[in-house]
Amino acid sequence: MSDRGLLIVLSGPSGAGKGTICSNLRAEMPNLVYSVSMTTREPRVGEVEGKNYFFRSKDEFESLLAVDSFLEYAKVYDNYYGTPKQHVMDLLDDGKSVLLEIDIQGAMQVKERFSDAVFIYIVPPSLTELSARLHNRGTDAKEVIDKRLSLACSELALAHRYDYIVVNDDLQEASLKVASILRAEECKIRRNKEKIQYIYKQYMDSKE
Ligand code: 5GP
Repeated sequence: MSDRGLLIVLSGPSGAGKGTICSNLRAEMPNLVYSVSMTTREPRVGEVEGKNYFFRSKDEFESLLAVDSFLEYAKVYDNYYGTPKQHVMDLLDDGKSVLLEIDIQGAMQVKERFSDAVFIYIVPPSLTELSARLHNRGTDAKEVIDKRLSLACSELALAHRYDYIVVNDDLQEASLKVASILRAEECKIRRNKEKIQYIYKQYMDSKE
């Protein structure tokens, strides 16, 4: 029997580098499972169905919403985004750690339901840097970028509701910090009751 897996929530403004940090983490921590969200937004160039997102129509998303298929969901920039529930629950029950890369509205829903989850907020070093990153990325129109920048400011005011904040001025360093947080969280005594019992039994058996 294994302890329940760790649920990790990673948020931060678009352009904070969450996506790259997640890829680095996956390379560094192969046991971590990345939850693929569902969205109604159009795929960007290079995005792959089932890898980056499950791309669905608004109608399909709303039908799934009606039957409580999401662990959390939010409307971000006029599109729905949500975490398919059953898959995540099965993984956690199986003792796997699951990473959700979601926005702050969704993170607060997870906080209500999973008090034991770990919440990490990633921020770029400044708004000027964030603006430069979004422009250099070249994936969004100017109005979309302006919307994202103003949302970044209002969301930052809620960052204190997370457990950790990681400033991403260097991707390697930021990824390392997130990996260190996760390793420490995974070792917490309260997350390892089954393991402790197992080790205890081994010790006692070896005495006989
Ligand atoms: P993007 O369109 O740039 O991929 O994502 C826009 C925002 O939606 C990002 O802040 C991202 O973290 C968030 N997001 C992605 N998937 C989910 C999800 O399943 N739930 C919620 N609440 N937000 C999500």
